[in-house]
Amino acid sequence: MSGLVIRDLSVRYGETVALRGVDLEVASGEIVAVIGPSGCGKSSLLRAIAGLEPLASGSVTLGGRDLAEVATHERDLGLMFQDHALFPHLSVADNVAFGLRMHKKNQDKAERTARVAELLQLVGLEKLGGRGIDALSGGEAQRVALARALAPRPGLLMLDEPLGSLDQLLRQQLVVELRSMFTELGVTALHVTHDQGEAFALADRVVVLRDGEVQQVGRPADLWRRPASVFVARFLGHPNVWDRASSELASVESVSSGPTDRQSVLVPVSAISARPASDGSSSGLGHDDDRAVVVERTEFREGRFRVIARSTSSTLCGLAVGPVRVAFEVVDEPRIGDRLRVKVDQRQVVVF
Ligand code: ADP
Repeated sequence: MSGLVIRDLSVRYGETVALRGVDLEVASGEIVAVIGPSGCGKSSLLRAIAGLEPLASGSVTLGGRDLAEVATHERDLGLMFQDHALFPHLSVADNVAFGLRMHKKNQDKAERTARVAELLQLVGLEKLGGRGIDALSGGEAQRVALARALAPRPGLLMLDEPLGSLDQLLRQQLVVELRSMFTELGVTALHVTHDQGEAFALADRVVVLRDGEVQQVGRPADLWRRPASVFVARFLGHPNVWDRASSELASVESVSSGPTDRQSVLVPVSAISARPASDGSSSGLGHDDDRAVVVERTEFREGRFRVIARSTSSTLCGLAVGPVRVAFEVVDEPRIGDRLRVKVDQRQVVVF
């Protein structure tokens, strides 16, 4: 069965255009994440799919069915939100059962009970069925919300910042669990988040939204390696993005089309390798100093040091640039003020 197909979708709130001409497909069994800054239209997209906002233009079809005339509760959707939206007066099991009762296809009580047990097992809460919602941790409550959303086997599961309220460790753990669970069950999912890391960890493909318009769609690795614009590169978290329009880097020039053609440039952190300026392994000639940088600060992250350094010359990484700050990673901690030489893997450089 085909998944979700959105064509030319626009949503307006009076004068505000929240979504403009959005085209998006989620294949059956695929996990797609939508990312973008606050206010870019993520929630409006989910609300429009759910039938909670009228469409100013366009269409939404799920499983080949046009949803235009279909009521929200008959759209075959599962929803999971940051605030769980669980019923505090019902037990864990009854919250999951509620998701089933809402659907006409699950009216047999014995089947419902069996399905609830199956779901609680799936999310690792089989022992907590009788417990009240108030007596759960944030992570457990999120699992109940997931079980409730999945119970009716929805044609599309929509997740709106589902892990936003959890601490970092729990988020990372749940993302991994969600991914393997969705893959195993063949769930078709649309996941909305402002967190690029969460999107990359969970999704098969990622959509970047800005001001209600799709900027780029692609697999995480493709987006990371080939962002389509300065905006996308920065939003994904690349630190070395030099915008031709910015005054700081007004002198970024060259690369492929000649010295007068000013362009925006991305040098991924992974493209830069550094070594001490004095380690003697270079030719020893002065011109290598062109690529010298001076360490301004360091940050320890995931076993390596992220170095922020200032380039001392007018060329860096084979590009003609003004004095810029550049970020890269090394294993051994340099001192502030150290001079390092950097080398760039030109294949990873992106020019916009
Ligand atoms: P996101 O979920 O990415 O933060 P939203 O979809 O909530 O973005 O909002 C998109 C745009 O629509 C924003 O400019 C927001 O201010 C506006 N907006 C959202 N909901 C309403 C509403 N009910 N009335 C008026 N404007 C709204």
